[in-house]
Amino acid sequence: MTVARRYPWVLATVSWSNAQQFTRGTHEGLPLLSHGCAPRDVLATRRQLRALGLRPGGADPVAVLYGRHNHSKAQWLASLYLIATAVPVRPMTPAKHTALAKANLARRICRSCGRDPLYVLPTSTRQCWPCFEADAAATGTAA
Ligand SMILES: [Zn+2]
Repeated sequence: MTVARRYPWVLATVSWSNAQQFTRGTHEGLPLLSHGCAPRDVLATRRQLRALGLRPGGADPVAVLYGRHNHSKAQWLASLYLIATAVPVRPMTPAKHTALAKANLARRICRSCGRDPLYVLPTSTRQCWPCFEADAAATGTAA
C-alpha cells in the first residue's frame, strides 16, 4: 500500500489561496497536505513558526500536514497555521519583566545614601556622583 493510493490528490478550495490547491483530501475537516507540497512561505507548523519567532496566537490551524518517519515509517500529523496571522513570541513574561526591573532598580540605588539618582550607577563604586565626590573629598583624593 502506498501513500499515493491511500491519499489521492484532490483539487480543493483552501483558505490560504484564491486558487484551488492540490491536497490529499481532508483530515478532521481540514485540508490534508503531504510533506513537500505544503506552501512553506504561507503555512507553517507550530515548530516552524517558533523557528521564525512566531506563534499561532490563538489562530486555528488551516490545514494538516502529514509525513512519515524515515525509520519507523510511522505516520505523523502536524497542524499547519497561516504565517500571515501568526504573532511574535512574547519576548518576556510579566514575571521576567518584573525581575529585570527590580535588578535594574537595585543597580541604581546608591550604597552610601540609599537614594535612586535615576541613572545606573558605576559598578565599581555603586555610588551616586554626590556621594562619590564627598567620599573622594574626605579621603583627600579629589582633584
Ligand atoms: Zn548617594
